[in-house]
Amino acid sequence: MNTPDWKSLVRPNVWHLAPYSSARDEYTGQGADVFLDANENPYNSPNNRYPDPLQRDLKQAVARLKGVPAANIFLGNGSDEAIDLVFRVFCRPGRDNVVAIDPTYGMYSVCAAINDVEYRRVPLGPDFSLSADKVLEACGKDTKAIFVCSPNNPTGNAFDRKEMLRLCDTFGGMVVIDEAYGDFQATPSMTAELAEHPNLIVLQTFSKAWASAAIRLGMAFAHATVIGFFNKVKYPYNVNSLTQFEGAAMLKRREDVEKWVKLILTERPKVMQAVSLLPCCTRVFPTDANFFLARMTDADAIYDYLCQRGIVVRNRSRVALCGNCLRITIGTPQENTALLAALRQWEG
Ligand code: PMP
Repeated sequence: MNTPDWKSLVRPNVWHLAPYSSARDEYTGQGADVFLDANENPYNSPNNRYPDPLQRDLKQAVARLKGVPAANIFLGNGSDEAIDLVFRVFCRPGRDNVVAIDPTYGMYSVCAAINDVEYRRVPLGPDFSLSADKVLEACGKDTKAIFVCSPNNPTGNAFDRKEMLRLCDTFGGMVVIDEAYGDFQATPSMTAELAEHPNLIVLQTFSKAWASAAIRLGMAFAHATVIGFFNKVKYPYNVNSLTQFEGAAMLKRREDVEKWVKLILTERPKVMQAVSLLPCCTRVFPTDANFFLARMTDADAIYDYLCQRGIVVRNRSRVALCGNCLRITIGTPQENTALLAALRQWEG
């Protein structure tokens, strides 16, 4: 097992940090019904009370669903919060670096820039495949984390599990596998590998298959040591009560989520096939997510045209390896029909 040297991996100031202790952290008993400890307003229940800083009830429900112990779960204000925490916990500003595949989700590089951390890009293969060797070659002694998004945004493809595990087995720092779109793929989550790989962090979210982007609820699954440092550094009440309540309610709607995923996966090949047959499309790339990448004859012009017709897709044409590409999310059958009707009328 590749057990990290935690002390050399965690930023020294974070290692020694005495975290803020909130009123809700200090009193954890069950018996009290008079709360005069947090300077809250006694009126307007239940929103007058601070939420559970560690979201214990919600974590228990997530633990049951995912088969991961609560001690290995962090919940945040979207998975974006967990991405930022990787930098704040592990990377010394101005000294350390991270390595990520290119192209990929844009927040990794933005968080790196905000935290003044060098961001090293390793191009995917021409078929958007991941080479663990190339990623490892880019790592140096001050590389603290590797970011791999699988299925990848914006290319849509999931990566070879063996390549991802080789990163975990070989690299001395943290390996972040972002599974924001994991519920749309057939292969099991990398959370199954956590027990054997203490340097693995798996990210998931309520924003995609769980259809709850508005509530801002993301999950990180990792070694209890990592979760402990995330909890030390996060804002005390990072997940508000309304979100904790709504997240728990969503977890009881598993059948709805499965139904939505099925609907999206049924629509996906139909939309991809129809787009691939259009004269304005030169290629449709295979996908494991709820979106796909399409290479067009003139992505900029088609993007503007669709906007004028009230249809918004994502123009990825200025992203590495994605020249002239649009990223298209699978919508409802009606939305997909509207997209296809508009594209058929394009006269470029
Ligand atoms: N990871 C990936 C790959 C994403 O595409 C997104 C959102 N587009 C996120 C993370 C962020 O998700 P959240 O809404 O949980 O912050």
